[in-house]
Amino acid sequence: MKLEHIKSLSPDELGFYGDFGGAFIPELLDPNVRALKEAFNDAFEDSDFQEAYIPLLKQYVGRPTPLYFSEKLSRTHGANIYLKREDLNHTGSHKINNAIGQILLAKRMDKTRIIAETGAGQHGVATATACALMGMECTVFMGANDIARQAPNVQRMRYLGAEVVAVESGSQTLKDATNEAIRQWINHPDAYYLIGSVVGPDPYPTIVAYFQSIISREIRDQLMEETGTSSPTKIVACVGGGSNAAGAFYHFYEESNVDLIAVEAAGQGLNSGKSAATSVLGKPGILHGSKTLLMQTGDGQVVEPHSISAGLDYPGIGPLHAHSISIGRTQVVTITDSEALEAAGELSRNEGIIPALESAHALAALNKIELNKDDVVVVNLSGRGDKDMSTYENYTL
Ligand SMILES: *Cc1c(COP(=O)(O)O)cnc(C)c1O
Repeated sequence: MKLEHIKSLSPDELGFYGDFGGAFIPELLDPNVRALKEAFNDAFEDSDFQEAYIPLLKQYVGRPTPLYFSEKLSRTHGANIYLKREDLNHTGSHKINNAIGQILLAKRMDKTRIIAETGAGQHGVATATACALMGMECTVFMGANDIARQAPNVQRMRYLGAEVVAVESGSQTLKDATNEAIRQWINHPDAYYLIGSVVGPDPYPTIVAYFQSIISREIRDQLMEETGTSSPTKIVACVGGGSNAAGAFYHFYEESNVDLIAVEAAGQGLNSGKSAATSVLGKPGILHGSKTLLMQTGDGQVVEPHSISAGLDYPGIGPLHAHSISIGRTQVVTITDSEALEAAGELSRNEGIIPALESAHALAALNKIELNKDDVVVVNLSGRGDKDMSTYENYTL
């Protein structure tokens, strides 16, 4: 298997997808970003790179992940519902697909130190894991608030040998951890900054989408085998920054008969002031080095997002999604904290699969979209729920 670029998903020379994207960075980082772009383009052309990457996905990560037909969900919703089991990846989510790919890039660039930020801790764990595998030094920045709500992942990172630094500024969540990681990168331009989603300055969104595209590449083959057709009618994925969604949508962007459905966290309600529904509530602005849809006040201050799920608690969205939503290619559904919790409980008790809170948002969206019996729907189950057990327990009891 070989990964391929999709033409319509390549940004222009300045890194723009339509009106969104680009690289809004301090001049100091310019050489870094340029070197990264060169290394990526070079790796992409080099068959040795794919020959190193794809076997690692197979033998280390455990890919391909199953495409599971859920009879119960299918009956409930009156359509054919499949779950793409990214929860079964090594370390428990899709994040490892990207972490392994970027660590290989970092190695190509002769880097020895990795900086990363993390929200739910899944990207931090994936990065710490890949660093342990490849003998890299690893520092992970994490909001103090997230450290408290995702304790098991903090323990894992530290046990894997990473340094976890608590970020005490702002809402003490992902946005603040990202600010701090960028600050560190400016001070240590010799380090490799490993971004965990399709956000940040060009070329990161392109790189991360590319490494996650393995998800839709597999869905194609698996659906073909199961149903005789390689495309679903709908694909549903939750969006924090948008990497699992970008990966799940990737090979279907150019097929207009496949509905792409992005699910955002409405938190305590869309208009409650405690939400993370970026594309619905956001306006164009610049966040973490790229122009995107951003939750902000009238005078451009970033609004603190809220979601019960740490992985969706981000005030921006990848520029690729902002573009695709603005041209009407991607549809958006929003799901509240309690709707997500309910969907998580249902999948756990009916299918014996405990989903991550993030993924539970995608599952809950099945209640919000019109379905008929001929629909073939793939829900990207981005991760498993071990890290969310204390939240689930508090809610159920
Ligand atoms: C990080 C995470 C997300 C959100 O990140 P995306 O970049 O939007 O995919 C979703 N699900 C899980 C399980 C995660 O760990």
